[in-house]
Amino acid sequence: MTPSVYHTLSTLQQSRTEPFCAYVYDLPALHQHISAMRAALPAGCELFYAAKANPEQPILHTLLDQVDGFEAASGGELSWLHEQVPGKPLIFGGPGKLTSELAQALEYDIDVIHVESISELQRLDSLAQQAGKPVRVLLRMNIALEGISGTRLMMGGKPTPFGLDSSELSHAISLVKASSWLKLRGFHFHLMSHQLDVDNHLALMRLYLNQVKEWCTQYDIEVDLVNVGGGIGINYQQPDNHFDWSAFCARLPQVIDECDAKALTLRFECGRFITAACGYYVMEVLDIKKNLGEWFAIGRGGTHHFRTPAAQSHNHPFSVLRREHLPAQIENEPVTLVGQLCTPKDVLARQQPVAALASGDWLVFSLAGAYAWNISHQHFLMHSPPEVIWLR
Ligand SMILES: *Cc1c(COP(=O)(O)O)cnc(C)c1O
Repeated sequence: MTPSVYHTLSTLQQSRTEPFCAYVYDLPALHQHISAMRAALPAGCELFYAAKANPEQPILHTLLDQVDGFEAASGGELSWLHEQVPGKPLIFGGPGKLTSELAQALEYDIDVIHVESISELQRLDSLAQQAGKPVRVLLRMNIALEGISGTRLMMGGKPTPFGLDSSELSHAISLVKASSWLKLRGFHFHLMSHQLDVDNHLALMRLYLNQVKEWCTQYDIEVDLVNVGGGIGINYQQPDNHFDWSAFCARLPQVIDECDAKALTLRFECGRFITAACGYYVMEVLDIKKNLGEWFAIGRGGTHHFRTPAAQSHNHPFSVLRREHLPAQIENEPVTLVGQLCTPKDVLARQQPVAALASGDWLVFSLAGAYAWNISHQHFLMHSPPEVIWLR
């Protein structure tokens, strides 16, 4: 918890009498984090924000001056970003794009479209021709990951619905070459998420850049942009040990050099790593009970607000904000933290030790700023939504 979040919550705790449940976002901390990420970025690299991690307006506006642009993964996100961050470069990726969404991207004249399949490329070509507008594209590729360790969440390196594989590339390139409207700027890769290891990620960058070089020779094409995806990881189990972005950035120029890729722009499109740490989900403890030998604390709210622990199947890190005047009901015991839903899956952390806990205390879950509220089944059981508090 940052000092300002702690201060805000302890002040609120003194005045609240009804059971509390809220998301709290520390926007100054977000701004500081993105500024540091930006400052570490080597020359020739760009940083985009993948809006699907958290598309809330104050988040986008806080990031605005520190990112090169925003990534949309649907027509809905594209409209929202077009409205919220006018004039900023937008990119559009994701499988199953509607023809109407591709038309929308053309209409907005976005920076580049990430093409996921041959049929999408063909549809885009016809649309661009109809509109009489050239369209800049990256081909999203799925390649084998020899010599690279995987992470907990893989979008590629194995069969997935994402991108083209190299057997389709010659067809895609011939379509591009035959078209007066498709302008191939380069390639897009987003093969893994939850990356925590700098060496492994540098090896991945090396693999991408060497692969691009090989394709350029093989197909006699020139490209100027490689989108190397997001996937930079947050360590939910050891929150002091997230991906070391500054160490990665310090070593990246050497990889670019080795791969003879100085003429290319490398574009990152990070989501989780940018916004996870600025958000907190807070539940007041409503009830504490022992059931068949184990302690449970039931909080106001649950996974219908904060699905992250259920989605990741992990114990989410938290701290306890005690109401000191309340005598502890449990001390130095493991307790399972659950919400108000009538399903055994509504668990935020299982059998975690707490020093002291009483009904009325607040449980503060950190790292709740990405893939949290917006991935939750918010209407399940018709409980009221959490409050939302923006620290500015
Ligand atoms: C979701 C997504 C991202 C962002 O991934 P993070 O793991 O949040 O950094 C980037 N690119 C694509 C194509 C995505 O689908």
